[in-house]
Amino acid sequence: MLQVHGVHKSFGTLEVLRGIELTVRAGEVAVVIGASGSGKSTLLRAINHLERVDRGYVSVDGELVGYRRSGTRLYELKEHQILRQRTHIGFVFQSFNLFTNLTVLENIVEAPVNAQGVGKREADTLARTLLARVGLSDKIDAYPRTLSGGQQQRVAIARALALRPKLLLFDEPTSALDPELVGEVLDVIKDLARGGTTMLIVTHEIAFAREVADTVVFMDAGQIVEQGPPSAVLDNPREDRTRAFLSKVL
Ligand code: ATP
Ligand code: MG
Repeated sequence: MLQVHGVHKSFGTLEVLRGIELTVRAGEVAVVIGASGSGKSTLLRAINHLERVDRGYVSVDGELVGYRRSGTRLYELKEHQILRQRTHIGFVFQSFNLFTNLTVLENIVEAPVNAQGVGKREADTLARTLLARVGLSDKIDAYPRTLSGGQQQRVAIARALALRPKLLLFDEPTSALDPELVGEVLDVIKDLARGGTTMLIVTHEIAFAREVADTVVFMDAGQIVEQGPPSAVLDNPREDRTRAFLSKVL
């Protein structure tokens, strides 16, 4: 499903991604952990081509992201083609990023209708189904500012799902929330995991990673130091750098 191969990315002289190799199979959940500045957000942004990589490539469902291949060369896609590709890769941010001037329902139907040409009635029906799934049927006509952080983040998840993405990316989806609101968002993500949604999740919630991840990926200084099932990476890490990180966060 998701394949990241030989990805390098620098900002000026700072090499932020240093040869990333990562595969996430359809229906699997990979959780990325690592210290601040290790390159986790840059990796997520590179996956949907919000960040142009210097070397290597990303493919989703067998399709190169951001490029087309011609012979041995890669050519960058046009902006509208990149935007169309991105509609298949959902992205949930730390800071929700809802449209404040739109209601909950309008936030969810906006992209399917405008970016995917889905009919209004069909988009509306799907939005209602998704709102029920994230437990917010009663907030359908509310404006984001009247919702708690946890409710806003659940709307953001429903909005990402409305595009029927092949892959869902989460960048620290609970780190802007008050502690008592973290659980309701993690519960929604766990429900998606049980339902077979393919996800790549950056989080500092180690207990959640243990519960939901098929694969835990530990990043340090732009490299994947170790990846494997939670029982290996979290409970029996092979690498000193993994042990040092876990001793600080557990
Ligand atoms: P955190 O846990 O704090 O979110 P992270 O692992 O997500 O950290 P990144 O945001 O990927 O880390 O940043 C990795 C490094 O790249 C950092 O040193 C950061 O300052 C740098 N960086 C990120 N984006 C840019 C940019 N647009 N221009 C210059 N440097 C950048
Ligand atoms: Mg980050």
